[in-house]
Amino acid sequence: MNIHAIREQFPILHQQVNGHELVYLDSAASSQKPRSVIDAMRDYYEHSHANVHRGVHTLGSRATDAYEGARAKVATFLNAKDIREIVFTRGATAAINLVASSYARANCQPGDEIVLTAAEHHANLIPWQQVAKATGAILKFIPLQPDGTFTLEDAAATMSSKTKIVTVSHMSNVLGNVNPIKELVQLAHEHGAVIVVDGAQSAPHHKVDVVQLDVDFFVLAGHKMCGPTGIGVLYGKQALLAHMEPVEFGGDMIEFVDLHDATWNEAPYRFEAGTPIIAEAIGLGAAIDFLESIGMEEINKYVTQLGNYAYERLSEIDGLTIYGPTKNRSALVTFNLDEVHPHDVATVLDTYGIAVRAGHHCCQPLMRYFDVSSTARASFYLYNTEAEVDRLVDGLIQTKEFFGHAIR
Ligand code: PMP
Repeated sequence: MNIHAIREQFPILHQQVNGHELVYLDSAASSQKPRSVIDAMRDYYEHSHANVHRGVHTLGSRATDAYEGARAKVATFLNAKDIREIVFTRGATAAINLVASSYARANCQPGDEIVLTAAEHHANLIPWQQVAKATGAILKFIPLQPDGTFTLEDAAATMSSKTKIVTVSHMSNVLGNVNPIKELVQLAHEHGAVIVVDGAQSAPHHKVDVVQLDVDFFVLAGHKMCGPTGIGVLYGKQALLAHMEPVEFGGDMIEFVDLHDATWNEAPYRFEAGTPIIAEAIGLGAAIDFLESIGMEEINKYVTQLGNYAYERLSEIDGLTIYGPTKNRSALVTFNLDEVHPHDVATVLDTYGIAVRAGHHCCQPLMRYFDVSSTARASFYLYNTEAEVDRLVDGLIQTKEFFGHAIR
């Protein structure tokens, strides 16, 4: 990978923050955008914008072709069999909520079980809490190991003939571990359950093949994979989507409308009520072109190496605790520095131009599991370098010294 050429394509990276060259280590929260994505959206607004699907005029057709073209790009990216398996949503959160509000509410009875873990992002926890409250289904949590991961034996033992849905993240946004999705899919299917995979963190880094994984639902967030905010994807097997009720109603999602009733368009359109997220879908399509021009395998290899390098370098710092497993790690490191609040760590690092995230990372139950209220997290993407990891390490050593003096 030509890292110099890649960095050149991200205008935002070339700036000083607080008098230092920016080191952006917060891509797990949101990645930066290459010029091709920004240009694709500007080009659309400057030359092709109109509403989609209904217009017969030239701009209407151009906009429709671009929007549906983006759907086709997502389908190819995920190796979906049919573009009708790709639903555009506002984000990963909206995609999970769609499955929960539509599929789960219709298919869960009192006493049925939804299997998940305490390490899920709130986006993959709270929608299921709401399903449980509405249907009488029970949430069952796969027990976590001390490092926050779980074993397949425990996953199997948590499932039963009452399991209707298994829902897990592909890659943890806090610990960076990659879960064994293929094996979990097998287990879920053996129990007659469907599986939902939260791919918000994995899709930016891994080649995802929904057919090979045999997942039932898979969600991703465009803004974490070089695309714009406001666009996400729900992949669902056609056999499932075709029987799901819409959860939003209005224009574009209908087939026939009478005064007192209406019938629905086919999937995915029945789930995309109203004027869709056109420019953002086109931006996501451009992001996919960008990622594929580098190659997902190359990207995965590069960011995993960078994550491992960061893990090793941060492990050398006295008084720094790293959370998560020692192996099978991906491109982020979550940590705490003895006696320094993570918000203070992030604030001091910011004075050196280094952007890391501090907080509960939308994973309060996992924070409680580790008996902390928050952590700091440095996350890496294809535009980061080992030199930037070194700057982080230097910044942390300086932070430690700064607070070491202050404490004493
Ligand atoms: N799941 C995981 C694992 C995430 O990291 C995130 C984003 N932090 C989400 C879901 C939600 O994504 P979004 O906020 O883009 O809807």
